[in-house]
Amino acid sequence: MNSVIQYLHPPRLVIIMPCYNEEENIQYSYESLMFILNDLIAQQRLNSSSGLCYVDDHSTDKSWGLIEELGRRDPRVKGLRLSANQGQQTALLAGMQSLAEEFELFLTLDIDLQDDPKVIPQMLSAIEQGAGIVYGVRTQRSVDSVFKRLSARLYYYMMKFLEQGIIKNHSDFRMFDRQVLHALLDYPERLLLLRAVFPRLGFPSAQVEYSRIARKHGDTKYSLFKMTTLALDGISSYSSAPLMLVFVIAITGIMVSVVLFLWAFSVYLKGIAIPGWFSVLFAVLVFGAFQLFCLGLIGTYIKNIYNEVKKRPRFHITDRLNV
Ligand code: UDP
Ligand code: MG
Repeated sequence: MNSVIQYLHPPRLVIIMPCYNEEENIQYSYESLMFILNDLIAQQRLNSSSGLCYVDDHSTDKSWGLIEELGRRDPRVKGLRLSANQGQQTALLAGMQSLAEEFELFLTLDIDLQDDPKVIPQMLSAIEQGAGIVYGVRTQRSVDSVFKRLSARLYYYMMKFLEQGIIKNHSDFRMFDRQVLHALLDYPERLLLLRAVFPRLGFPSAQVEYSRIARKHGDTKYSLFKMTTLALDGISSYSSAPLMLVFVIAITGIMVSVVLFLWAFSVYLKGIAIPGWFSVLFAVLVFGAFQLFCLGLIGTYIKNIYNEVKKRPRFHITDRLNV
């Protein structure tokens, strides 16, 4: 099934890029991506109104000014500015939601172009052959720091253990058609981890491999805090397995305490003075830690429920450029 067939031919593609304090990357991404787009337009594989959309996640540097300048010179450059820093996932969602009716094809890409845009023609080929979603998959990440590689490995291992069905070494570099986007926008939850939702949509998909290159301009905008929040939110929004873990810990705790009780009781029966501090300390420390851990875990889910039931808007757009 080629889901693009019902729309314009050749399709209109928009490349959506989240952008947070990326002034060094605006002109660079514009030039590199327009070069690729123009080539595909010349080959009549893309419509000439294909373009770019920068979603400014409330940058505090010159990013928005530079985007506006580009948009005034070239109407194929679109821009959205969010009222507050909401994070990459929400910025992507704001872009996708605002452009859902205007384009047939969508590509999400980090503005630093670490995910190699040279594979875009290959991704388009997969769409032309009938895929609804094409995932960009990294073959190696030697340019990332040792910490980033190790934490990524741990994350993918945990997600696999929790049966998340997320695609290994794929982040937010993907191409998809309008039908897929409409399915995604039907997911009403506030906490949306895009890489966990897309594979669940169940459309025909394909993978295109690339090697991740080093950031050419500026530094990473993902602080350790932002990275950890993304990982924890991802796990607690898409898997209830950790709640089962509480149950396992509780049963283990009960078994340990039964053994401790039997031991203490036998000591009591023998009339030996109860040896004091070790057992008390052991029980206090171990059970105290178990309880805090379980409370924290349950708290995380309550936080999610709390955030979901409020049904607050996910973002506000303060400025629009050619959208
Ligand atoms: N980003 C964003 N909001 C944020 C943090 C990051 O929109 O609060 C964007 C950033 O501008 C970039 C993408 O998300 O386009 C990925 O960020 P980055 O390259 O810093 O992450 P890394 O590649 O280091 O994981
Ligand atoms: Mg990056």
